[in-house]
Amino acid sequence: MTESCYLVTGASKGLGRALALLLAQNGNNVLALARPSEALDSIEQMLIQHAPGSASIACDLSRPDSIAKAVERIAEHTEQLAGIVHNAGAIAPVKAMAEVEGAMWARSIQVNLIGVQDLTQQLRPMLGGDHQSRVTVISSGASLRPVHSWSAYCVSKAGLDMWSRCLAEEGRAVNISSISVAPGVVDTGMQREIRSVPPEDFPSLETFIGLHEDGNLVASDVVAKQLYELVTAHSMDQSGMRFDVRDL
Ligand code: NAP
Repeated sequence: MTESCYLVTGASKGLGRALALLLAQNGNNVLALARPSEALDSIEQMLIQHAPGSASIACDLSRPDSIAKAVERIAEHTEQLAGIVHNAGAIAPVKAMAEVEGAMWARSIQVNLIGVQDLTQQLRPMLGGDHQSRVTVISSGASLRPVHSWSAYCVSKAGLDMWSRCLAEEGRAVNISSISVAPGVVDTGMQREIRSVPPEDFPSLETFIGLHEDGNLVASDVVAKQLYELVTAHSMDQSGMRFDVRDL
């Protein structure tokens, strides 16, 4: 049997970590991408225990040179990717559009959107051909709904939905599929970060504190299980579609 290999970005923490682990537990090699950290080292060790061909890939998606180096490392591990999960994401800056610093806004679009295009373009020789490669973009409810003080995040997630549709369009003839999925409200560091924003910067702060206090956040491993089938087995007919885990 051919070994399958998935690249999961943002695999050091939260949802990406849970997805990476689930993929490895099911026998897939996983290349776990995030900035260098102890958390990244620890997930690498866990992945290798389940799927020995797994590895961590240190990469800062805010830096094009770091993306290029990561692509070189990925190529040392595999010639073909069964899939990419574009999960890495940053909520910052949480600030009104009238006040947000331009460089922070641009950085958010770089990490959440431009890095996805850049990475995928450079990995193109490892995608498609005889075997379908499945690209999954982790979207958000914020791709469809404007949220006060989240303009960069909303714009990048809306852009990602369309990016996925464009990839589906161009990938159809070469066996590359792409879907986007909103994961619901997940109990991760990103939610903690949202709850720690100063109230003057974020009018919906109380709503997010309430979601946590009322037990409405879903654990990462639960969401990872809900996403697994889509990530590993979505069909060419589903390529270009947007899903929400709450509708699955
Ligand atoms: P998280 O716990 O904050 O994890 C974010 C991941 O992205 C981490 O692994 C982080 O790695 C990585 N990352 C951030 N900046 C990066 C950079 N510059 N370069 C490389 N990696 C970077 O957040 P999460 O909640 O699991 O989020 C996962 C995805 O779900 C995101 O796309 C998010 O937008 C989406 N989402 C989350 C929720 C939610 O309720 N949590 C809801 C809707 C959508 P390092 O910091 O270690 O580099």
